[in-house]
Order: sequence, then C-alpha cells, then structure tokens
Amino acid sequence: MNILITGGAGYIGSHVLKALLERAADKITVIDNFYSGSQDALVALESVGKFDFIKCDLADTAHLKEIFASHKFDAIIHFAAYIEVFESMQNPLKYYLNNTANTANLINLAVEFGVEKFIFSSTAATYGEPKDGVVCENSPQNPINPYGTSKLMSEQILKDAAAANSKFKYGILRYFNVAGASSDSLIGQNYPNATHLIKVATQTITGKRANMSIFGRDYDTKDGTCIRDYIHIEDLASAHLAVLDYLNSNDSDIFNVGYGHGFSVLEVINTAKKISGVDFEVIDAPRRLGDPAVLIADSSKLRNLTSWKPKKDNLKTIIASALAWEKKI
Ligand code: UDP
Repeated sequence: MNILITGGAGYIGSHVLKALLERAADKITVIDNFYSGSQDALVALESVGKFDFIKCDLADTAHLKEIFASHKFDAIIHFAAYIEVFESMQNPLKYYLNNTANTANLINLAVEFGVEKFIFSSTAATYGEPKDGVVCENSPQNPINPYGTSKLMSEQILKDAAAANSKFKYGILRYFNVAGASSDSLIGQNYPNATHLIKVATQTITGKRANMSIFGRDYDTKDGTCIRDYIHIEDLASAHLAVLDYLNSNDSDIFNVGYGHGFSVLEVINTAKKISGVDFEVIDAPRRLGDPAVLIADSSKLRNLTSWKPKKDNLKTIIASALAWEKKI
C-alpha cells in the first residue's frame, strides 16, 4: 500500500511509522510541521526502514494538494493534531481550526484523490464523563472540552464522507491512556511539556522535576484516586496496522484502543517508585478540572474483529519502557 502518515514525527505517529517500517510491506510518506513532532525521531527511524518525508503544515491546502497529486495514496493515517485539553479550553478556535477544519480539508482531498482508507486518531475524551467508567464504542459521547469536541466533529465528518462515497472507508481509533516508549528505546515521548501521569512520574524520577502532584484523592474509587486504562505505545501502534488490514475486507468501523482494565494514580506512582527505587516526592493537589473518576476501554470489539494481539499489557513493562527512554533523553 501507498500510505500517507500525517504527524509521523509525533509521539504516536512515530511509533506507528516504526511498526510499518518493521513490517516492510508499504511505501510510506510522512508529513509533519514539527509543531510537537521531533526531527530526531525521524532521523532515528531512518535506521529501521525507508520512507519519504515532506515538511508540510496541514493548513497549507495548496501544498497538500500538490502532495496528493504527485502520489497515489491508498491510505492515510492521520495523527497531526493539537492534544492539550487545558489549552483547548483557553483557545478553542486553535483546536477547531486544526483538529476539525484542517482534518475536514484532508478528508476532502482524500475523497477527491480516490484514497480508499482513512485511519483517524480519536480519543476517549470524546466520551466525556461517562456514568459507568467502562465505555464501549456506542456509549454516549458528550465531550467536556473543545479538544474532545474537535475530535468528535472529525469523527462525524468521516462518517458522513464515507456514507456519501462508497469507495471511502474509515477506521476510527479512540485511544485511552497511551504511555511508554519503544522497547529498544529508539523513540519515545519527546514533548517536554507533556502533562501525562507516567511521563511526569519518569521526569520526577530522573530529577527533571522536583516533585509531582496527585490531582485529587477524594474520588469514589478504591483508593480515592482516578483510574485509567494505560496502554503501551507499541500495542497502540499495532492496533493501527490491525485496523488498516481489517479495512481490506470489511466496512468502516470504530474501535476503542485500551486493555480493558485500569490502575489508580496511586498504583501508578507506587509502581514507578518500586521499579526505579526512587522514593520521589508526591504532593496532594486539588482535583483537575474535567477528570472523570474512572475511564476504561471496553476493547472487546478490537480484540474480536481484528488481528490485534496486545503484547505489553503490564503496568511495570509500560513504566519501565517510559523510564528507560526518559533516562536516555
Ligand atoms: N494525574 C496526576 N498527576 C499528574 C498527572 C496526572 O494525578 O501529574 C492524574 C490525572 O488527574 C488523571 C490521571 O492521572 O486522573 C491520568 O491523567 P493523564 O493526564 O495522564 O491522562 P488523561 O486521563 O487526563 O488523558
């Protein structure tokens, strides 16, 4: 297949690029504007396999159109997006313009140029604050921030585009809590301002932060802290390949990507302390706005319908790989 990856220099995009290069079955073109993606990741991945890179901003429609005209893409895997929830509340238009308007434009070009498959990075944030912490793909979607809404709107655009164009199929992947780095520590999360729990814990272990906070200990959970479904980046990456293959002989579909069980913030922190042997300082802080108590994927659809076989469903493995990477950078 001739595949276009947008945002291929980013955290998730670079791991999917690595997985595709390792299976060496496709011709790959990556575009990225290096807003949050890392040039180092692309340089590192040159040792894994061959791909073309074009620096391009998704807002540059004329450039995108040229790229589509000079390649005959069979599939697009679309990662390029802004991802910070808090920023999306302060500057929602930034999110709607990039995550929704630029995505609509990309989908339009995909249809115009006869691209048959579109894999879209969506998010558990589209579910908002579910009543029951375990969500399946048809659970109600009521996002509570512009980030989640910007992704939900793109989901809708994809559904409408596919309904109107019989040759165009989508695979929507709703990610839960992605963490860790590649097992060989070749690539990982490079974004210095990341706010995610496991990244923050490894930054604290390695002394890049003096301490870290627990945002709320008064939730209605077993130890009072929030519970999330943490998935290893390599298992998340392999889900994209599984869904891409699934679309060869199946219709468009939507998949939750998580393991189906969760860990509390305290469990994550205690595991990180045990693995590292560092008893880092943890401060009790108030709840963070918009955090649901429990968010766990019902991922039975992905497991049952596609060839996806998770291999890293182990909190220690996830944290150890994140820590090995954090020590390297
Ligand atoms: N969290 C925390 N301290 C941190 C970062 C996160 O207590 O420094 C908590 C956060 O409130 C949430 C959980 O860890 O309950 C996971 O947060 P994260 O930002 O990793 O992912 P989210 O679930 O918000 O996408």
